[in-house]
Amino acid sequence: MNKVFIAPRRYVQGRNVLKEAGGLIGALGKRVMTLWDGQVKGIVGGTLLASLKEAGLSVEDVTFAGDSTKAEAARVAGLIREHKVDVIMGIGGGKTLDTAKAAGAAAGIKVVTCPTVASNDSPTSSYTVWYDEQGNCLGFESWGVNPDLVLVDTEVIAHAPVRTFVAGMGDALATWLEAEACFKARGPNLAGGTATLAALALARLCYDILMESGIDAKRAVEKKIVTPSVEKVVEANVLLSGLGFESGGCSTAHMVANCLPSYPECHGLMHGHEVGFGVITQLCLDDEVSVERMHRIVDFEIAVGLPVTFADVGLPGVSRDRLARIGEICAGPGSLCENHPFKVTPDDIVNAMIAADALGEERKKVLKAR
Ligand SMILES: [Zn+2]
Repeated sequence: MNKVFIAPRRYVQGRNVLKEAGGLIGALGKRVMTLWDGQVKGIVGGTLLASLKEAGLSVEDVTFAGDSTKAEAARVAGLIREHKVDVIMGIGGGKTLDTAKAAGAAAGIKVVTCPTVASNDSPTSSYTVWYDEQGNCLGFESWGVNPDLVLVDTEVIAHAPVRTFVAGMGDALATWLEAEACFKARGPNLAGGTATLAALALARLCYDILMESGIDAKRAVEKKIVTPSVEKVVEANVLLSGLGFESGGCSTAHMVANCLPSYPECHGLMHGHEVGFGVITQLCLDDEVSVERMHRIVDFEIAVGLPVTFADVGLPGVSRDRLARIGEICAGPGSLCENHPFKVTPDDIVNAMIAADALGEERKKVLKAR
């Protein structure tokens, strides 16, 4: 298999960078479609539209229906053709961005993503995660191309709910652990090949930044301020995590996380929270992970408020029987758990989840007693 690395064409991050949106987007096209919901437009609309206008761009304003369904993407693609726009800009959370990417790819125009939360890996990736009308996840699809421009305004992100920032750290925390497992197994990445050394280095940097600056950054975001730590962790959550997962590969942390939404009790969680628990499960599955490393990562998750126990994900006292289904899916054909240099059985996964819960409980007690 070839080594493949993919990335967006341009990534721009900074405080109040939305004021520069017109110039940056004008380099891609002159007729822009903005896709956002009313709440997001209320927050960033004034600044963004003023900048687009100042650059002499025409704007077609479309309100996002709320879910990244195939019907919604087809509706937006129809509007793109009708109004003959040459750039679509998705502004908001992962679902808005994913829909903009899908519609832009279907209509064959340039795509700009502008995340207003740093909670997931949508902004840089070539993928759309599809949902049905009831909000159930249907899987994901790659467009073969990454966004032409990713625009990240850190002032906006520092004002978003803190839990979105924390969820982003959960998603980013998995990046290095999964890329490393995948590399050792010579497993495929999500870019159509195997990982380059560049992808591994970026994934490792993502991990190091979180460990170094994650707690500091969370404290700043609680005060709605942008500090150097916030800039670093936004880069980790959005750029490094995005490049790292797509070109590095995924394994157990994401596989376990992707199974949790099938439990109604877990519906209040964001993707990154689910990955946070998946990370600990993966640590407990792999005999090469030292106890020291395990403790370091679990303690970090507790410090920033990521879920580390069954109770934290809404499943207190969950039975082994109820977990068996996750074990079957994770050890089944085509699972991301194949991206380990060892074979994974259903029992291994269930045992690792139970071990993760016990470890999380214990570290909470230890940290409390300090
Ligand atoms: Zn993820």
